Amino acid sequence: MPVCEPLLAWYDAVRRDLPWRHTRDPYRIWLSEIMLQQTRTETVKAYYARFLTLFPTVADLARAPQEQVLKAWEGLGYYSRARNLQKAAQAVMESHGGAFPASYEGLLSLPGVGPYTAGAVGSIAFGLRVPAVDGNVYRVASRFYGVREDVGRPDVQRRIRERVTADLPAERPGDYNQALMELGATLCHPGEPDCASCPWHDLCDAAGEGDAALLPVHEKKRPPRRVDVAVCLLTRESRVLVTRREERLLGGLYVFWIMEDETRPERAEVLLREAGFPCRFTGELGQARHVFTHRIWEMQLWHFSLENEPSPQALEACGGRMVSGVELRALPLPTAMRAAAQAAQALLQRPSSPAQNG
Ligand code: SF4
Repeated sequence: MPVCEPLLAWYDAVRRDLPWRHTRDPYRIWLSEIMLQQTRTETVKAYYARFLTLFPTVADLARAPQEQVLKAWEGLGYYSRARNLQKAAQAVMESHGGAFPASYEGLLSLPGVGPYTAGAVGSIAFGLRVPAVDGNVYRVASRFYGVREDVGRPDVQRRIRERVTADLPAERPGDYNQALMELGATLCHPGEPDCASCPWHDLCDAAGEGDAALLPVHEKKRPPRRVDVAVCLLTRESRVLVTRREERLLGGLYVFWIMEDETRPERAEVLLREAGFPCRFTGELGQARHVFTHRIWEMQLWHFSLENEPSPQALEACGGRMVSGVELRALPLPTAMRAAAQAAQALLQRPSSPAQNG
């Protein structure tokens, strides 16, 4: 019996009813796949619905202001996904006449679309016989096929993809890929899987060997680096300084003035003066912590009162602008700035605070 049969039969019986499973529209499937990367399904549901209300078609997404797209993404993290989402929508409009390319290579050519997403969209929307192997599927497949080598290694990943591809049915490849993901999400989860309930129990190598909980093999990763970050709220007359970041991690998002590896407010004050923002340190506002993939920000929130209105040159040099509390609420901010934004709002609302007086 082909290995796809018990898996597809199980999938047909237990599949979760998810909004993106009611469509073969490549735009909607692609959107859900990008959102589901590194984000829980339950969280994605609300974002997915809101995104489609704001941008019902790929054309709407392509022509929307970037800030609106980033704002709609706020809270999902990994903002490069949102920026690439819009770039890909623009590529679909400009290079593909408004229709998603129906080939694996064509999908792969879109910004932010890697082999996994191209495989998922290609198989689900277009019925292409291509695999969609993400971290969950590497786990399921390494157990099922009994791969006991480091799944972080490219040659091991390639072998797993080849095994998955070989077992992909010509009929229903999209359902098969989704069934693998569903199995990874519901039974073949990290740690101790629920092999007794699994449709592959009798065929699975790891279930037979009894070592499923030990798979997949991961070589030890380096822990994220801890970084001290000073988040400086520079206020004057009920407005606060924000700057627009361009680098990969935070590109297109607004942050307050940030200094890495700075732990002394008096030193920060000197550096701010040198940058064209003469100010006085007026107090600490608390701490916050944010864990990125490779680093952990240990943040100190500091308040500085600007001595005068920043010059256009100083603002231009840092991509900065002074914004009110209302304007701040409308800007896309990374999740790492959430505590600082709350502190800023509290400062800006204080009627007789130094923020009011400059
Ligand atoms: S039998 Fe167990 S280890 Fe094998 S695929 Fe099923 S849940 Fe995973």
